Amino acid sequence: MATSTKNGNQSLLRRLRALPGELREGVPLAELTTFRIGGPAWAVFTPSRWEALVEGVALARKCEVPWRVVGGGSKLLFLDRGFPGLVILTHKLRGCRQEDGLVVAEAGLRLGELVEAGFCQLAGIPGTVGGAVVMNSGTRYGQIGDRVEWVEVLTPEGELVRWGKEECEFSYRNSRLRQCRCAVLRVGLRPSPSGPPPALILAERRAGQPVGLPSAGCVFRNPPHAPAGWLIDRAGLKGAREGDAMVSPKHANFIVNLGQARASDVLRLVDRVQRQVLRAFRLWLKLELEVVRE
Ligand SMILES: Cc1cc2nc3c(=O)[nH]c(=O)nc-3n(C[C@H](O)[C@H](O)[C@H](O)COP(=O)(O)OP(=O)(O)OC[C@H]3O[C@@H](n4cnc5c(N)ncnc54)[C@H](O)[C@@H]3O)c2cc1C
Repeated sequence: MATSTKNGNQSLLRRLRALPGELREGVPLAELTTFRIGGPAWAVFTPSRWEALVEGVALARKCEVPWRVVGGGSKLLFLDRGFPGLVILTHKLRGCRQEDGLVVAEAGLRLGELVEAGFCQLAGIPGTVGGAVVMNSGTRYGQIGDRVEWVEVLTPEGELVRWGKEECEFSYRNSRLRQCRCAVLRVGLRPSPSGPPPALILAERRAGQPVGLPSAGCVFRNPPHAPAGWLIDRAGLKGAREGDAMVSPKHANFIVNLGQARASDVLRLVDRVQRQVLRAFRLWLKLELEVVRE
């Protein structure tokens, strides 16, 4: 590393340490993701106030250090070499209150807590409100974008703005927030008066998904005419393995970590699944899992 960059990075660490929150260096990303995979991050900053998150992003941009906001890490695959920049964790930004008939949640609020506040259709999805809004996460009973009234974001240009639902451009497991790499700070959500009981959704999930083994949920997006899991199953890939990464025998759109899986194992398995499904159905499965390649 050039001396000037090294000095710049040391000064960034010093300034981050002065902000409200916690700073750690060389944190294994396997500790921060549900897949339990990933080499070290250069530094991890966990702000205890949203203003510190904004400041942290501004400092990283000024020092030209790559940065990424991470919530529950339940949709992410970090590479074995790790992440050469600043991970900003939202874990301590967990405020939630009622305001004008809306539930106003900070980005780091766990989705499980939101379920208790009248969003039963999200029952069983791991992760945080921020990650869910960016990914427009949901179940067959509904997705979070349906309930969003507004989102307060930090734009890549460093502006703090409040976007209405339309401006967020929610679509299937996607949003404008994801495309333009905005940081989500707070979300205003309208609770739904009815829906299936969370216990029913949880029982369905336990019956149909691998529980107890690390994963990042569904790996591939469902193509328009058939679920990805069905295609992978029919292509004969249930139980297929690369190292300790395995296509779940219970739900073929999940790849599970049997213990010591590396990102390279997962990526080899992803490639094998895509090629075999292409051969069987002339269809290329697109990733829903987010691979962080910086
Ligand atoms: C067992 C299991 C089951 C799952 N089931 C479902 C399901 O039924 N439906 C479903 O939709 N998903 C499911 N998922 C995937 C995942 O839980 C959801 O997508 C979840 O909402 C992601 O939230 P997160 O906080 O973990 O996001 P992360 O994985 O931390 O991040 C996901 C993306 O959002 C970005 N991000 C996170 N927080 C912010 C923020 N505050 N501001 C800006 N960007 C941010 C990250 O940079 C990244 O690009 C499942 C995952 C697992 C492990």
